[in-house]
Amino acid sequence: MNKDLVTDKFVEHFGEAGDFYFSPGRVNLIGEHTDYNGGFVLPGAIDKGMLACIKVNGTDKIRAYSVDLNEYAEFGMKEEEAPAQSWARYIFGVVREIAKRGGVVKGFDTAFSGDVPLGAGLSSSAALESTYAFALNDMFSLGIDKFELAKIGQATEHNYIGVKCGIMDQFASVFGKTGHLIRLDCRSLEYEYVPFNPVGYKVVLIDSVVKHELASSAYNKRRESCEAVVKAMQKRHPEVELLRDADMTMLAEVKDEVSAEDYMRAEYVIEEIQRLLDACEALKKGDYKTVGEKMYGTHEGMSKLYEVSCEELDFLNDVAKKCGVIGSRVMGGGFGGCTINLVPEEKYDAFIETAVKEFTAKFGKEPKVYPVKIGDGSRKL
Ligand code: ADP
Ligand code: MG
Repeated sequence: MNKDLVTDKFVEHFGEAGDFYFSPGRVNLIGEHTDYNGGFVLPGAIDKGMLACIKVNGTDKIRAYSVDLNEYAEFGMKEEEAPAQSWARYIFGVVREIAKRGGVVKGFDTAFSGDVPLGAGLSSSAALESTYAFALNDMFSLGIDKFELAKIGQATEHNYIGVKCGIMDQFASVFGKTGHLIRLDCRSLEYEYVPFNPVGYKVVLIDSVVKHELASSAYNKRRESCEAVVKAMQKRHPEVELLRDADMTMLAEVKDEVSAEDYMRAEYVIEEIQRLLDACEALKKGDYKTVGEKMYGTHEGMSKLYEVSCEELDFLNDVAKKCGVIGSRVMGGGFGGCTINLVPEEKYDAFIETAVKEFTAKFGKEPKVYPVKIGDGSRKL
């Protein structure tokens, strides 16, 4: 992170620098489309994020400068004073959500910059929200706990950006810990740190640069399929509320009562929840080979059963297999975005070179490459 640049820009716009805060983006190793089925996810914070310099300015206004976009915004903190720029709405939203919880924030100046690629599925927006939620809580001694800080970020997306996201991204950004992933139970919101020390391996994301355009209508259809299967199961097992509560035997019982498509969708979800639990057990033993196999299993399931992959992502998965990558899968909801890859160090260079060359030759556009390390969550620098 470029602290000097943020300092320079802050000084240029506002005078003497204030305090510095950082919050990371995130990856999710395994557990996709499990959240709305009451299952688990396994995110971790990364070594890329948002860095902000912040200082109280003695007014009732926020003056903010986005270093990366080279844009300035000035706005008040009342509901009707929302700024026009979307990047500034994240800051405004966090301030409003804090106010709704009774927190008193005074006017401040801020400059910020980040190195999480925007819109690539690494949650640059959560990094931005968490940075300000954490910083304002600290600066104004608001006493808000970390869970509530994550919820403030999530509520900002819901109420000020219009993105109805779950809690995973903000949760991982706030709670991240070096050497660990976080197994989050999306039903109870209980969580557990799981060790992640892949010695001899690198984690790298390959961005297909395909935008998730199909995602929202397909997403709703997938949810409907899951609900339809639950409904069928409830005739025999009234205790089943979500696919989290189901197993393959229960699924077999309703085979003739649900569509072939709904059956496949539920099969994926039930297997995925189990794959994640198996991967966590393997991580505790340091068995990265099994973790990798589970990742390939997820890709296969997302591609063939849940049908949320695309040609580009399947291609990247095949290249990974061919190059000796031990685990690879599409990360995120699907239809575009990145694959996440667990790569033996000695095979890393050849994998990247082959993936970039072959992908570019086939699709006429270059994929982007983001190596990441698992790092700590929100903090003051
Ligand atoms: P992502 O998957 O990366 O979270 P989103 O579309 O949810 O993608 O969030 C991206 C938005 O977050 C951008 O349009 C911008 O408003 C804001 N943002 C993210 N990173 C930055 C940055 N470095 N500088 C300014 N705004 C940023
Ligand atoms: Mg986002």
